[in-house]
Amino acid sequence: MKPASRSAVVALALAGAGCVTPPAFTAREGDVIVRAPDEQLARELIEEVEELRDALSERIPGLLPGGVEIWLQDELVSQRYRPRDSDTTRAFTVQPWLNGVPEIHVVEDSWHELLPHELVHAWLGPDWDPLPAVLEEGLCDLMTEELGPYPGLAAIRLPPAVARHQVLVRFLWDERDAQGAPLAREISQLRAGTERYTEVITPEQALSLDSVSSLGSERDPDVTTQLYGHGYVLARCIVERQGVAGLHALCERARRKGLKRVPAEWVMQAAADGDYPARLEREYQRATLEQLRLVGDLESWLRQARSTAPQLDAEAWLASARPRVAIDGGAELLLSERAELRDWLDAVLRGD
Ligand SMILES: [Zn+2]
Repeated sequence: MKPASRSAVVALALAGAGCVTPPAFTAREGDVIVRAPDEQLARELIEEVEELRDALSERIPGLLPGGVEIWLQDELVSQRYRPRDSDTTRAFTVQPWLNGVPEIHVVEDSWHELLPHELVHAWLGPDWDPLPAVLEEGLCDLMTEELGPYPGLAAIRLPPAVARHQVLVRFLWDERDAQGAPLAREISQLRAGTERYTEVITPEQALSLDSVSSLGSERDPDVTTQLYGHGYVLARCIVERQGVAGLHALCERARRKGLKRVPAEWVMQAAADGDYPARLEREYQRATLEQLRLVGDLESWLRQARSTAPQLDAEAWLASARPRVAIDGGAELLLSERAELRDWLDAVLRGD
């Protein structure tokens, strides 16, 4: 979740101050304060913060991992913030207005997987000020995925990110007829990602926002999920090729030029690795492909194809059938050659 802006904190302070009871138990270790329902949880949380401090410092240049106060709660509420609906908001971070330390509020039942995301918000130093809000969310998400762990995050982020794409997906494989002659087989499906959304947000629109909440959460959850989706995909494109340093370099460049925010065009170029827009388009196709895997279409097509040659063992079938996917008339991707699909493929074939 995005940290509240300073102006938002002021407004909300007037609305919600003074009527909040903190969780029962408080523990302190150096500059870390945690408030939790019991002592054991509080100690566990402090240990986790210390581990994450090291892990995040190793990964993120310009991190300032200073003091922080963390509240574990059933219902998310702070002295400066009105209660949040825990169905849509699972955690948030409030940056200090003048003095003090960042304050993180996180739901008690899943703090483990949410904490890295919020600590990144809390600890990003001034180097990172020019980072567009959605990319900050993306960076937080990548750290959560790596350190949380939060293995289901891609399933949440990818479908809304590819909402504007209408893609023709072709699943292909080879068979032999009774005489042993080659026989090409195919399943085609047109997928329209936009059906669910009344308003479709482009990556460029997402990158131009000062904060995710300015367009999002209170007004239209479908818009918010698209913003987080774009942040995730774009940050991933850049971090996969250049590491977190690639994001940091964009901020440095903006600061040198006296810009308040990294221009959307720079982000798109960096995400496309100099081949804009073709490469970025392919990244969104890849996200679509992952989404297909995640929603299980590929799995059912693969099983269908596999059932046409039950006499072959899994490896022999994979070698002869060469199951592959093509999106929007693009090149065919041989599934067995995709590192990120390999484990999944093995699991599906083993399950036969
Ligand atoms: Zn966030």
